[in-house]
Amino acid sequence: MTHESPPRAWVEVDLEAIAHNLKMARQIAGEAQLMPVVKANAYGHGMEAVARRLDSEGIAAFGVANVGEARRLELAGLMTRPFILGPTLPEEREEIVRHGWGCTVSSVAEVEHFQRLGELCGRQVTVHMAVDTGMGREGFLPSELSEVAQLILSKDHVKVEGLMSHFPAADEDEGFTRAQAQEFASCAEQLRSSGVPLRYCHISASAGELVGAAKGMNMVRPGLMLYGVAPVPASVELRPALRLYSRVVLVRELPAGHGVSYGRTWVTPGSTRVATVGIGYADGWQRSLSGQGVWVYIRGQFCPMLGRVTMDQIMVDVTAAPTAAAGDEVELIGPHLSVQQVAERAGTIPWEIFTGLGTRLPRVYRSALS
Ligand SMILES: *Cc1c(COP(=O)(O)O)cnc(C)c1O
Repeated sequence: MTHESPPRAWVEVDLEAIAHNLKMARQIAGEAQLMPVVKANAYGHGMEAVARRLDSEGIAAFGVANVGEARRLELAGLMTRPFILGPTLPEEREEIVRHGWGCTVSSVAEVEHFQRLGELCGRQVTVHMAVDTGMGREGFLPSELSEVAQLILSKDHVKVEGLMSHFPAADEDEGFTRAQAQEFASCAEQLRSSGVPLRYCHISASAGELVGAAKGMNMVRPGLMLYGVAPVPASVELRPALRLYSRVVLVRELPAGHGVSYGRTWVTPGSTRVATVGIGYADGWQRSLSGQGVWVYIRGQFCPMLGRVTMDQIMVDVTAAPTAAAGDEVELIGPHLSVQQVAERAGTIPWEIFTGLGTRLPRVYRSALS
């Protein structure tokens, strides 16, 4: 580690694991194109590093959440075009048009705005029409499509390049998801027959792809699975790409009856060896993990976390690891502790644990984790 201030906590990322997971996503996707989703700093893994690693893997676009993220990819000098997944704000659109980034439209107002910007910038704007088949977050309603298609066909600066939608329950409701996929396919059919050429049709994120809900669509948008976590049982081997470490900063012996951390929710039942570890909720080690029977891994031993998570530190019972000392490495997510377990204990999902990992944590890239 070569950081000026010795880090108390850091994230290790294996970019080769992400490349492997992309290969697995491609295997399942068959002929379909891939749009790896790298929004939210590549789910905490570091957007530029991840995108650089995947840029030459023959992918169609990078999925991002906003213009700021698209700009970061642009500055990184990548070949692959960013695609803004969600609705865009009016003030984001000129930059989108000038760079030729991909984006969605969900309303007539957006189509008209892009037409005006296309004229202004002397550019043909390529958009993907979003259709709301059940997510309730963006898109035209299926019943509006044919009218909108006619409108778009009349706009000479707006060209529809694709149709997109999103599954709200691919991991929870097979019947609904199947019906939704059918409706999406018939929307695509309807648009094509009314003269809208669709180069790309896409509806699946990781779960939809893994449950095979969108056979016949020619693009998929894997996010979580690229980072090695399967939201539903997977038929392929995914490799976790991220480890979270901290270090012991202090070890003390506390006498019986001594409170540990805010609120004194935990009191030593007897003399206890307590380590203070340099990670807290400001790093994304969520406060909701307090009192949930969470363990960390120190010197080959699972050690229970004690009391509440504080902003910069947690306390851990190292009675099982009597030689633990200041400076020791502490695994919080890694080979012994999965992000799924952490998420469950925190009452949340792996996506939120990953994206909550703080900016204070240096990202360290290791090509082959042991
Ligand atoms: C975030 C996102 C994805 C990726 O989702 P995962 O579940 O992480 O695979 C795909 N599509 C859209 C529209 C998204 O917002």
